Amino acid sequence: MNSPDTASVSPVVRPREVEHLVGGLETSDGAGVKLTRLLNQPLQRRLDPFLMMDAFGSDSPGDYIAGFPDHPHRGFETITYMIAGRMLHRDSTGNQGLLEHGGVQWMVAGKGVIHSEIPQQEHGLMKGFQLWLNLPAADKMCQPWYRDFSAAELPSFTTDSGVEVTVIAGRSHGVVGAVERPVTQPIYLDLHLPAGADFAELIPESHNAFLHVYEGSVTVGSTQIPPGRLAILANTPGADGVILKAEQDSRVLLIAGRPLNEPIVQYGPFVMNSEHEIHQAFSDYRAGLFGGAIGGADES
Ligand code: FE
Repeated sequence: MNSPDTASVSPVVRPREVEHLVGGLETSDGAGVKLTRLLNQPLQRRLDPFLMMDAFGSDSPGDYIAGFPDHPHRGFETITYMIAGRMLHRDSTGNQGLLEHGGVQWMVAGKGVIHSEIPQQEHGLMKGFQLWLNLPAADKMCQPWYRDFSAAELPSFTTDSGVEVTVIAGRSHGVVGAVERPVTQPIYLDLHLPAGADFAELIPESHNAFLHVYEGSVTVGSTQIPPGRLAILANTPGADGVILKAEQDSRVLLIAGRPLNEPIVQYGPFVMNSEHEIHQAFSDYRAGLFGGAIGGADES
């Protein structure tokens, strides 16, 4: 295990400012799950290598109960972070996992996966996030990969100022996260900040980075970020990280990654580099090359 470097001197000398705030769009997906799309297609280039981020959160079962029945993916990775509730994942490579209460599911769709994500509760709060991370062109047709991490399996530490940090991906203060990816080098942190606390994180200058405040309110530089917003951090030349100050007890996702600077062509659940590859994805899917249905009665 790593012992975190929680020195009270900030490691960040030239912090980034907020470039702008994004409100997100209310929408629904799957079989009618209500969600807020915080990162949508118009932001894919700006936030390369991230393709999408949805927030879902409701204690009304009608907003989530139908879940996400069988559907395919190709060409990217999905990271689902469950804050509250229980969701069962099954996919065409034979993986199955129950995602609940602070757990993370990391799936590399690669050359093709069919999966379902179905709530395992009929009442109560269902809350979480799904982030899509692009794969480099050279890896889009890789073998699918899947792993789920319970809350207890996710590396975490607490800073001297009382900030609880869960390191889902990348590294923070010397602590290695649950997942590291060599090309996009994602950093994905969940921060629980007590009122008045601040938190500094080093971010490579070339990474695109953003914050999502899902509870409370934080300030970055001269910008106050209210809850529910996505705050895009400026790519200021020479900047080495970000410093957050919590005005009240706050919960924040800090996400950053190295841009791929490759063409992005998305059609629904497929994200490739060209129209031709999208057509190929559809024909491969129709030909059964992603594997068979996984939600049916043929499950043994
Ligand atoms: Fe999916």
